[in-house]
Amino acid sequence: MVWKGRTGTRRDVLQAGIAGTVGIFASSAAGIAGARAEDRTSTANDGARIEVKSGQTLQISSHSEFQPWTRFRLGDATVTVVSDGRIAMGDPKKWFLGLKEGELEATLRESFLSETDASLAQNVMIVDMGGRRVMFDTGTGGSPLIGPTAGHLRANLATAGIAPDSVTDVIISHGHPDHVLGLADADGRPVFVNAQVHISEIDHRMIAGEPNPADPFAPEMKRQMTAVADRVAMIADGRQVVPGITALAAPGHTLGHMIFGIESAGHTLLNTADLGHHQAIFTRHPEVNFVADMDAAMMVATRRRYYDMIATDRLGFLSYHFPFPGVGHLARTGTAYAYIPASLDTV
Ligand SMILES: [Zn+2]
Repeated sequence: MVWKGRTGTRRDVLQAGIAGTVGIFASSAAGIAGARAEDRTSTANDGARIEVKSGQTLQISSHSEFQPWTRFRLGDATVTVVSDGRIAMGDPKKWFLGLKEGELEATLRESFLSETDASLAQNVMIVDMGGRRVMFDTGTGGSPLIGPTAGHLRANLATAGIAPDSVTDVIISHGHPDHVLGLADADGRPVFVNAQVHISEIDHRMIAGEPNPADPFAPEMKRQMTAVADRVAMIADGRQVVPGITALAAPGHTLGHMIFGIESAGHTLLNTADLGHHQAIFTRHPEVNFVADMDAAMMVATRRRYYDMIATDRLGFLSYHFPFPGVGHLARTGTAYAYIPASLDTV
């Protein structure tokens, strides 16, 4: 692995801040999801009495006024994060494996998250730099197997003013349906008609070759990769995909899973794809396994290596599945980490 972003401290990451206009708390239409709620009356220190629901978690839901994208500067580059929606996971115990008895529930409770209903965001990053427009992953494409809460990338790209034919490069971090299935439309035509598609050779072989009969997504992934077969380029560890964007092998989740360093004018951002699937569980317990990991032990070792680098070098990073827009930092907390979302200024 050779990537010059590995050395040196990068305190200036994201110093330009996120200049989007996402008013997450601006609307009264925000939703509140309760968990383990029980009626109770609390007493404030001046003796005033307020009605609260004990044990409630606060969850801001999307609504029609929500702008599903945000944009910020990174050196001379412009980074736009566009939401594809979210994957509704339901019971987190079915997805996040390998923790000790009670650890998963405690992590969610201590993070003020529902213990019974988990969601994974779908954050698609678009980088404009050096005359190219590079998009990382393509969402679910509205796959009915994943459901209607995801697959909104094309509509949301339009609100961000990004035309599909303006994308010059699509980088696929790995061969899973929530990243691949936006490549082609229902008629089998490429969505990003002018884009070269970049993917690791290992994962390309996995999804463009003979479909795995045990994987219900395999036929559709193969169909979509076939639709773009004339424009596929292979990416390799330590090599630049396009100028300023370096691929870094991050095997385990899939064997060809890659993450990416983006560098512009001395500023650095990592696109960490599926290095961790959940903002609290994977940072507080880097040893956790995700149910879809191909080699879970390998992925834990990969995650520990890159999380150590992100915390030590104070790198800013994007996670595909952390809450929108999924951009922030990792702070070290003893043997694990805390995710610190980047500040969002509205003006
Ligand atoms: Zn994923």
